[in-house]
Amino acid sequence: MVLSSTEEQKEGQHDSSKKKLHFVIVGGSLGGLATGLALKALGHNITILERNPKPLLQDQGAGIVAGGDTLEFFKRYNRCNRPLAVNSYARQYLDREGNIVHKEEMLQNMTSWDLTYNLMRANYDGVESPYCEVPDPVPGDGKAVHIHDRNVTDIKEELSSDEGGGVRVFWKSSQGDEGSILADIIVGADGPSSTIRKLVQPNVERKYAGYCALRGTMPEEQASEETRKTCSERFTFFHCPGVQILTYLIPGKDGTVEPGKRLLNFVYYTNFPEGSDELEEIMTDQNGRRRPITMPPGMTDPQAWEKQRKLARERLPPQFAEIVCGTNKPFVQVVTDVLSLEHEYWGGKIVLIGDALAGFRPHTVASTSQAAFDAMIFADYVDGKVSREEWKKQTLGFARYIQKRGVDMGKHSQHMDLPLEDHIHDRNVASTPRQEEVYPEWATAF
Ligand SMILES: Cc1cc2nc3c(=O)[nH]c(=O)nc-3n(C[C@H](O)[C@H](O)[C@H](O)COP(=O)(O)OP(=O)(O)OC[C@H]3O[C@@H](n4cnc5c(N)ncnc54)[C@H](O)[C@@H]3O)c2cc1C
Repeated sequence: MVLSSTEEQKEGQHDSSKKKLHFVIVGGSLGGLATGLALKALGHNITILERNPKPLLQDQGAGIVAGGDTLEFFKRYNRCNRPLAVNSYARQYLDREGNIVHKEEMLQNMTSWDLTYNLMRANYDGVESPYCEVPDPVPGDGKAVHIHDRNVTDIKEELSSDEGGGVRVFWKSSQGDEGSILADIIVGADGPSSTIRKLVQPNVERKYAGYCALRGTMPEEQASEETRKTCSERFTFFHCPGVQILTYLIPGKDGTVEPGKRLLNFVYYTNFPEGSDELEEIMTDQNGRRRPITMPPGMTDPQAWEKQRKLARERLPPQFAEIVCGTNKPFVQVVTDVLSLEHEYWGGKIVLIGDALAGFRPHTVASTSQAAFDAMIFADYVDGKVSREEWKKQTLGFARYIQKRGVDMGKHSQHMDLPLEDHIHDRNVASTPRQEEVYPEWATAF
């Protein structure tokens, strides 16, 4: 069974009992691992190729809001018995003086990238870590391989005597080695600058949105009594023209959720006009190297960071200024937009998921949920539980609609001077459960 059989696609049902497929997944971060886990549970064989030269990806030590689809994914595929998240019981907004000016009860689950990654690796290919015990293999699961130091550079359709043929994936290592591997289907889970997307759709560009997210964490035990009292187990926000900052608690070392050992995570959006000296300064590391997209933790130029600390003290509520100034290893991400036109190419032999399909602005808190959702619904489609039409509608609808929502939220928060009620409204809308979203026609047309 291959996805290029158009008649079969129109019917929209795939019988996975016919043939076990070999999926090559390009990218071994959360989207690639989620897809690998979901497909290996159907008995298919998976090879993940990750370009990073190290066997484990290094986290940036930051937080993730675990939305409904992330939680659903873990319910379906996680067999490690440990907590995934820290609860946040309310969403609240501060004024410049640090008073709570708006608060609503709302249960949300806050986790960390490193805990999520290590849980997925334990479940996917049995990687041991201090985060969790590795679960026993499940009889009937497909073979799950993860190979690091495999930078995928090209793909070529290959016809074989087999029905439909496959796609050859070419890679290079950091040592200059080269090789290739044959796949029935390729999943491009290679992030917002996706090579696979560029190969199938070279005109799609990733564009700078005019502002950056300054990020970092501070151990909760190092925060003052006042800051802990205000921010503990609450999702806290502050807005002023050109600035949005938020904070929430995430798991601490090795994923611990024990009170006192967790981390206060912050995301501080602030404008750096394109081409400005300020942007150059914040994105040039302490060795003088200009970083294009991410300034890794601990690499910021001390002088540039000192300037940000001063600004934080001048314009943020005291609790936020304390957290920003208290972080040891800040990192910076430039905020970008990218949206692929389609999510499958070459008759379904190439599928894009997660950030490779749509790079959301972080305000949406939906990137990991998108990766989890794309993985689950793709597996359901491959398994014949969901029709092709439904798979396309749901995947593209989510990608296009939430991508636009992120652009609108960013415009409101960074480039307009709106009353707080408007930001609260935006935030509440962004919390709509996916199942309740009504996608407009333009989002689901294909
Ligand atoms: C190391 C790392 C740390 C992160 N930390 C955080 C965090 O703390 N908080 C947060 O909210 N988000 C974080 N993210 C982003 C978050 O993982 C994504 O926004 C979201 O989960 C969707 O994941 P994704 O797998 O689609 O994309 P990404 O997470 O961007 O992963 C793409 C992967 O593809 C690999 N890749 C790219 N090109 C190639 C190629 N040509 N060949 C082979 N592999 C390739 C990359 O090395 C990367 O591992 C992090 C991402 C990475 C890679």
